[in-house]
Amino acid sequence: MERSRAGSDIYKNKAMVERLKTYGVITSEKVANVIESIDRALFVPDGNVPYYDSPMPIGYNVTISAPHMHATCLQLLEENLQPGMHALDVGSGTGYLTACFALMVGPQGCVVGVEHIPELVSSSIQNIQKGAAAPLLKEGSLSVHVGDGRLGWPEHAPYDAIHVGAAAPKIPQALIDQLKPGGRMVIPVGTISQELKVIDKDLDGSLSVRDEISVRYVPLTSREVQLQGV
Ligand code: SAH
Repeated sequence: MERSRAGSDIYKNKAMVERLKTYGVITSEKVANVIESIDRALFVPDGNVPYYDSPMPIGYNVTISAPHMHATCLQLLEENLQPGMHALDVGSGTGYLTACFALMVGPQGCVVGVEHIPELVSSSIQNIQKGAAAPLLKEGSLSVHVGDGRLGWPEHAPYDAIHVGAAAPKIPQALIDQLKPGGRMVIPVGTISQELKVIDKDLDGSLSVRDEISVRYVPLTSREVQLQGV
């Protein structure tokens, strides 16, 4: 058995993928392969059961999303994560999904994670360095930055895919502006009740928006408000 640190076990990671397939969450072979090749235990703080299908605390009043949510978002964005495409992960947290995006778009693509807690940016970089996306981080097609994700990351815009890992009271205009015509954004929207919204920008720039599922994410907010825990 390969163990890179306490709790890490690629066979258990594979078993998690099989369970998500059995429950009908994972239907895409490509997404199954990506989730299999990034060991979740590298991203979940020690003391938690990394392969359990639940969000887990990562400090700073936030959580790593549950495996079924990661899988759902990867599948919703799959067509917009083709090799060579550009993707933005807002609220990149542990870096787990950012790493998955990078494997999907490959070395010719570009994946940017934006996270407003500097300590999480540092630890996410360390997490990514231990796994399959490490070469992409080294070569520069994958990068993670400290910033307010509500402003997006204009430097590598426009994006084919934008994922937001925290719930916004309303869709930030900067993210709409940075979505490429033909691009797709997946974003939880709402406060007490939240919907995972799928926003497609047509080639003429018009938007179509649909609700995928009801969800429960931590808020997309300012660093100060998040750290106060209100
Ligand atoms: N998708 C990640 C993290 C989910 S938690 C994972 O699964 O690991 C949501 C993350 O959004 C947290 O790390 C939080 O710090 C971050 N966040 C919240 N508001 C933000 C903002 N305005 N700008 C950047 N990051 C933000």
